Amino acid sequence: MGEAAPTIVWFRQDLRLLDNPALSAAVAEGRPVLPLYVLPDQNGDWAMGGASRWWLHHSLTSLAATLESKGARLVLRRGDPARVVADVAAECGAASVHANICPEPHWRAADAALADRLQAARREYLAHRGFTLFDLETIKTRAGGTYGMFTPFANAVRGAGDPPSPRPEPNAIPAPPEQPRSEALEDWNLLPRQPDWSPGLAGTFTPGEPAARARGRAFLRGAVRNYDTGRNLPGQDLTSMLSPHLHWGEISAASLWHALHRRPPDKAAQTFASELIWRDFAAYLLWHHPTLPDRPLRREFENLPWRHDPAGLRAWQRGQTGIPIVDAGMRQLWRTGWMHNRVRMVVASFLVKHLLIHWRLGAQWFWDTLVDADLGANSMNWQWAAGTGIDSQPFFRIFNPVTQGEKFDEDGAYVRHFVPELALLPGPFLHAPWRAPPLVLAEAGVRLGVTYPAPIVDLAIGRARALAVWQTVRGDSPASATI
Ligand SMILES: Cc1cc2nc3c(=O)[nH]c(=O)nc-3n(C[C@H](O)[C@H](O)[C@H](O)COP(=O)(O)OP(=O)(O)OC[C@H]3O[C@@H](n4cnc5c(N)ncnc54)[C@H](O)[C@@H]3O)c2cc1C
Repeated sequence: MGEAAPTIVWFRQDLRLLDNPALSAAVAEGRPVLPLYVLPDQNGDWAMGGASRWWLHHSLTSLAATLESKGARLVLRRGDPARVVADVAAECGAASVHANICPEPHWRAADAALADRLQAARREYLAHRGFTLFDLETIKTRAGGTYGMFTPFANAVRGAGDPPSPRPEPNAIPAPPEQPRSEALEDWNLLPRQPDWSPGLAGTFTPGEPAARARGRAFLRGAVRNYDTGRNLPGQDLTSMLSPHLHWGEISAASLWHALHRRPPDKAAQTFASELIWRDFAAYLLWHHPTLPDRPLRREFENLPWRHDPAGLRAWQRGQTGIPIVDAGMRQLWRTGWMHNRVRMVVASFLVKHLLIHWRLGAQWFWDTLVDADLGANSMNWQWAAGTGIDSQPFFRIFNPVTQGEKFDEDGAYVRHFVPELALLPGPFLHAPWRAPPLVLAEAGVRLGVTYPAPIVDLAIGRARALAVWQTVRGDSPASATI
């Protein structure tokens, strides 16, 4: 293939120019560069959810603009990714295709199929590490196996040295003389219309690389200092809220890692770096256990008799369970497309333990509503919350949502914000309104079962039921604990 043959950069979950290994390698080839995004035909439980589609629309708009400022034009196509990328390569006579590796099973299958098609056409396929900090294949136990627990995994990656330094963004990206046909983003119908539920998402986040970088900079200059102590307090903005930007690759984990390590070392920065390692761990588990989204890692949980409770599931989804911290979290998710990590743990525990509803149904709701919906992180964390994973959270550890609320939302700011019908309840009863004397409820304008639901499950009964069921799976008696 001649000098003028272009090279393709196939964008997926790496919608950025800075520290994009596939893009840098393509530009370094010295050929014209064709940026391509393919919207995959998907169906089934893990087809892209509504909040992700909203994000993708805006992120692609932003990517197209930044690419254009460098001289390149983004081509959009729809269909089976391996076939479409190979077709575009044939149409423009591309010599090679560059992409960053994604850990999701469907992307890995597409990679394998594309490599075959390109090889048959004598074109090169070059895959780079751009999503995770560390190489998912080379982190191995001493015996050559894969890690199943976070702490030894984290020790191993910390011992492996820093990830490569961030690549600068290219100054210019030369476009090919002839541009292949592109579909119109509007025709993909990624945005919600009837109804348009997106204003709360747009009020909370701005998709795209410039906003991701601005959020990263602001966090590293400010809130990171209090991250260690503040990251568990949902009523305060002390976490980075970078998760959707990281999922879509608008900012690289490696560039955050290096920015953190340029700061004087402190506990807060170390804790934040640890969260980035959790992100890698999720990708690692998905890579080595592709059934993670669907099957419990602890196989004995396949037989757990989950309850069929559509009404309970719906109350949970809508933030109408009568448990204030749970309802606040679920309403935050519905309104903004995001939920604070502490509250994610509480709502997940409530669904799978107190309601005994299958963790996959919770994971599917998150999948549809989260702007940061990520197959690795979502599946790993649901399995962690359900105690069905291979990390150290056992099934019999059951979060008490009242205690969690009192501890982490002590002044009640979070619950009052998202559950305004309880705003006038005094502190001692805010997290358990059913304990309030009738006069206190009346003064706060709360009528349980009318203005705000009575709890859909008695917490003590729900907990005892979960433990009893767990015993049938384990066949022994739990050293039960409430945290
Ligand atoms: C049931 C449940 C489901 C979850 N689903 C997702 C999901 O679909 N996508 C997702 O990105 N995170 C998920 N998380 C993890 C975590 O809640 C979010 O990453 C975090 O709340 C995002 O907010 P932040 O960016 O302010 O996080 P920060 O506290 O600022 O952390 C920085 C980054 O580290 C990573 N991170 C932090 N905690 C975790 C974790 N426990 N697992 C994996 N990565 C982590 C994220 O990329 C995050 O943006 C889930 C957690 C639970 C309990």
